Amino acid sequence: MNQRVIPLADERQLRQLPAIPADLSPASGTLLDSRGRPVKDLRISVTDRCNFRCVYCMPKSVFDKDYAFLPRNSLLSFEEITRLARLFSAHGVTKVRLTGGEPLLRRNLEQLISQLVNIPGMEVTLTTNGVLLPRKAAALKAAGLQRVTVSLDSLDDTIFRAMNDMDVPVTDVLKGIAAAEAAGLGPIKINMVVKRGLNDQEILPMVERFRGTGHILRFIEFMDVGSSNGWRMDDVVPSAEVVRRIHEHHPLVQIDPNYSGEVAERWRFADGAGEIGVISSVTQAFCSTCTRARLSTEGSLYTCLFAQSGHDLRSLMREGRSDAELSAAIRQIWHRRSDRYSEIRSAETASLRKIEMSYIGG
Ligand code: SAM
Repeated sequence: MNQRVIPLADERQLRQLPAIPADLSPASGTLLDSRGRPVKDLRISVTDRCNFRCVYCMPKSVFDKDYAFLPRNSLLSFEEITRLARLFSAHGVTKVRLTGGEPLLRRNLEQLISQLVNIPGMEVTLTTNGVLLPRKAAALKAAGLQRVTVSLDSLDDTIFRAMNDMDVPVTDVLKGIAAAEAAGLGPIKINMVVKRGLNDQEILPMVERFRGTGHILRFIEFMDVGSSNGWRMDDVVPSAEVVRRIHEHHPLVQIDPNYSGEVAERWRFADGAGEIGVISSVTQAFCSTCTRARLSTEGSLYTCLFAQSGHDLRSLMREGRSDAELSAAIRQIWHRRSDRYSEIRSAETASLRKIEMSYIGG
């Protein structure tokens, strides 16, 4: 086996079997962690595979032909995912985001969506690189998907092909965005990860392209997720700089968040041509309002994007635990949650061996 695979494979094994508490009382609808943060959003990675090899996320040097992706029987089934989503819903989760890897690579994803939208009060969304949307958007909408977020880091074909490292042209993603719009999966959010010296010159062209379209362009600071992307603080373009650079050409006015705990800071164009968002996990940590839980492809629960280990809910399900037991285990994990990685980030924490984003779900 390729030596580079070993540390990542080991990290995936860093899963603890959660204890089942004695108190199996029903979920109350509000679950607070040790810092008073409720659980509201559940991100679910439905596959660790991707058809891109973005240099900042799944670099080819690690995720190459020798990389051991998860075997099929490790993945949570749609029934297992839906069961957990129901239990989280009873604890207060109102939004599920399907992600990965590339979620549209998971076969029959529409079936999962139709099961999830049957959970009362649950909003179901999806983050994708967009390439498969022309084929799938209509079926996703018919299954009940409400909205999509499409990742797009550049409009310059040379830069984009180099960033996805699979020679995928920009036009494939633009066709995906058009298909999502035609299917009624809007308002579409378009996520651009900005890495200094790689694509920061694309900030303005992206603004020019999407201003006035109704799509919401969001700029994400390059983060030290996982252990394989070679993150350095120097590569981060702070959101304040992104806003300043746009404001010089198209004046911006800050607007209120849609809801408390929204990760993106919102700005509108003063001339009425829509809005943009900035997500500043590095320069303006939002841990204090973080309401997100993450379910890995093989059913481990992570309470932080930058976690080093997870809680193995799949084993509890596969050993025949009841809903009451699972629900109590989730309650105990969330009660004990104290993560605030982005608030304490330093050169040392950045080099910790953290779980990869493709596995835990972006
Ligand atoms: N394949 C899907 C996609 O492309 O959107 C979903 C998974 S991807 C991991 C989810 C999001 O995470 C994408 O918008 C991606 O750009 C972002 N992402 C990945 N690595 C990142 C990093 N190091 N810093 C900031 N964002 C990152």
